[in-house]
Amino acid sequence: MEFIPYSCQNIDDADVDEVVRVLRSEFLTQGPMIAQFERAFAELHQVPHAVAVTNATAALHIGCLALGIGPGSRVWTSPNSFLASANCALYCGASVDFVDIDAHTRNMSVTALRAKLEHAECEGTLPHLLIPVDFSGLPADLREMRELADRYGFAIMEDASHATGASYLGRPVGSAWADVTVFSFHAVKVVTTGEGGLLTTHDPALAHRLRLLRSHGMSRDPADLEQAPEGPWVYEQCLLGFNFRLTDLQAALGASQLRRIDQMQARRNALADRYDRLLEGWPLRLPARLPDRRSAWHLYAVELVPGGGLPSRAEVFAALRNAGIGVNVHYIPIHTQPHYRRLGFSAGQFPVAEAYYAQAISLPLFPALSEAQQDRVVDTLGRAIGARR
Ligand SMILES: *Cc1c(COP(=O)(O)O)cnc(C)c1O
Repeated sequence: MEFIPYSCQNIDDADVDEVVRVLRSEFLTQGPMIAQFERAFAELHQVPHAVAVTNATAALHIGCLALGIGPGSRVWTSPNSFLASANCALYCGASVDFVDIDAHTRNMSVTALRAKLEHAECEGTLPHLLIPVDFSGLPADLREMRELADRYGFAIMEDASHATGASYLGRPVGSAWADVTVFSFHAVKVVTTGEGGLLTTHDPALAHRLRLLRSHGMSRDPADLEQAPEGPWVYEQCLLGFNFRLTDLQAALGASQLRRIDQMQARRNALADRYDRLLEGWPLRLPARLPDRRSAWHLYAVELVPGGGLPSRAEVFAALRNAGIGVNVHYIPIHTQPHYRRLGFSAGQFPVAEAYYAQAISLPLFPALSEAQQDRVVDTLGRAIGARR
């Protein structure tokens, strides 16, 4: 029986050729492909600056640092995300808190955010940075968050790891509203470089700081140097940075992938629409559809509607896995992880995220998924929950 994964990279001959071309070229890293990939990404997302790094975790880390997050800073994010959305604040010595999600969109709830901000204002504990997450590729409510950011004086770093190519209010994600937007190119994401990440921003000073942080904090640019250089060999370390550089091999793969993002996106859209049609009327909650934004469809996550004598999520999950269908669960709420419990969090604090997690299953979705495979997913799910199409 053929195993159907929940996600799968999409690599074509052009991708292979581009990587091989770099392998035979002069530069495997710090060559021309990085800037080329960054320009292509920036153009596609209608934003002036793009900075590519080793992975989105590194991007979130230096994004925090570039925005001035450090010991004593407060950072809020969504509990329904991958660990890295919260860990980045801890790397910088900041404290983390969470804002519960909206049951319909599964993204950070603006209502919960507003209430938490009002309370924090009274307590004198307003956040310095908000990290909303575009869960499954569906953009979060960035316009409302921007209004609140301007009113309460915090920065926004959007975690768009799922949302390469998504759009919100007619504009590409990463092009407006957030101060910095982070993307991931891990192999399961919608565009891949194997491992990889990228930050976009409108602010040239921020982009400059991100480039320094990506590469040891060092510069040869005369504009950055504190002393007149003794010679062309001189570099100065302006701040404490890292080696978070993407290689040219990866950038070449990324640039090649971007050339057919429309095609891959169209296929994900068609498959998501088809899931919607096939699963209509079943005892499931399907992903939200909002007229003012277009999802990148990284994930197609359903929730079992609890009660009514249906089998448990664990039973449905096992039935699908046993039938060779690589379902997954996104996400275990971050605050319930042992590391976060030791920081004082406990189950029950963010009930909407916890209730969503308890019933969630991500179904296979990737451009090469065939309709026959999708039928097999749907039929197996139907047998597990006693529904038919
Ligand atoms: C994948 C992911 C990350 C981390 O991305 P890497 O590139 O693997 O470091 C961060 N946030 C979210 C929401 C993700 O899905």
